[in-house]
Amino acid sequence: MNNVILLNKRPVGKPTLNDFKFTSEAIAVPLTGDILLKTLYVSIDPYLRGRMNDSKSYTPSFELNKPIQSGIIAEVIDTKNVEFKKGDFVSGMLDWKEYQVSDGKGLKKLNATSAELTPYLGVLGMTGITAYLGLTEIGNPKAGETIVVSGAAGAVGTIVGQIGKIMGCKVLGITGSDKKAELLKSKFKFDNAINYKTTSNLSEAIQKACPNGVDIYFDNVGGEISDAVMVNINKHARLPVCGTISLYNDTKVSIGPRIQPVILTKSATMRGFIVGDFYAKFPEAIKQLAIWLKEGKLTYSETIINGFDNIPQTFIDLFDGKNEGKMIVSVNN
Ligand code: NDP
Repeated sequence: MNNVILLNKRPVGKPTLNDFKFTSEAIAVPLTGDILLKTLYVSIDPYLRGRMNDSKSYTPSFELNKPIQSGIIAEVIDTKNVEFKKGDFVSGMLDWKEYQVSDGKGLKKLNATSAELTPYLGVLGMTGITAYLGLTEIGNPKAGETIVVSGAAGAVGTIVGQIGKIMGCKVLGITGSDKKAELLKSKFKFDNAINYKTTSNLSEAIQKACPNGVDIYFDNVGGEISDAVMVNINKHARLPVCGTISLYNDTKVSIGPRIQPVILTKSATMRGFIVGDFYAKFPEAIKQLAIWLKEGKLTYSETIINGFDNIPQTFIDLFDGKNEGKMIVSVNN
């Protein structure tokens, strides 16, 4: 049988296992033009939380009692589509199912062996593209400037910081544990890292770590962490707003300091973005990331959890910071 995960209830606050429902169905048979896919790796992403709400956003909400979807790498195990052959590896937005039929539209064929697939969900996938284009298109880093990255030890954050270093900047990461802070400095070559959970005066700690002020703030988390960065920005600072994970589970609107005075007096530019805004530049981003990876200038971390049944818990674990780098569930491997 084929295991499937549906959205059972719309989460209120932090998601719980009750918000998901496991069901099973017969494995579908591919018709002419179809391929049968076996799921191998499932991308677990914070933005899925927003799609679980019944509210208008940049992507449609998941429907109740329908399968949840995310970025998935799958293997073609049967084909009635001339574009695909058995054994091809593909990636795309697919259902949380162990097996599924697709007409192949929107899927990307991966030119990789089975041992090289997971980076296509991370550094060479949406994550890396988000980091590269958010930083270069909005942050516009120049050598010698100071970048602060929140959510620094996560999938996007680790790549942002390393690109900042490649571009000759000084990089401070903000993260949720001492272990992650150490990793940022040792493995990812950040200049400095702060554990926001154990730092009592975050704005002061940022000021100390960035004696020349903050030129670019790459914001993955929003909320109080971002408030602490804002008071340290320089004239003409750039602030790419990539994510606001600290607010995703809020049940009422969070109120913080008014940001207009600091944006005004620092002539700063704060710009939110969805990676798809830069769709035309995806090939450029992937090419550059692949070059850096090959040259050894860029590295990555993955937290890979085994088992289809663990997908919901792994998603919940994002909100407890249980991942280092890209969070992935491995299925059928
Ligand atoms: P991560 O790999 O960074 O995983 C999430 C991390 O967020 C956790 O590991 C945790 O790290 C941190 N976190 C969880 N809860 C909180 C909290 N309350 N306060 C502060 N930090 C918290 O995820 P991604 O790299 O995939 O995504 C990073 C951000 O970028 C997210 O906000 C996501 O929605 C956004 N995003 C936006 C895109 C766009 O197109 N704009 C595309 C892709 C992602 P820690 O231990 O440090 O707390």
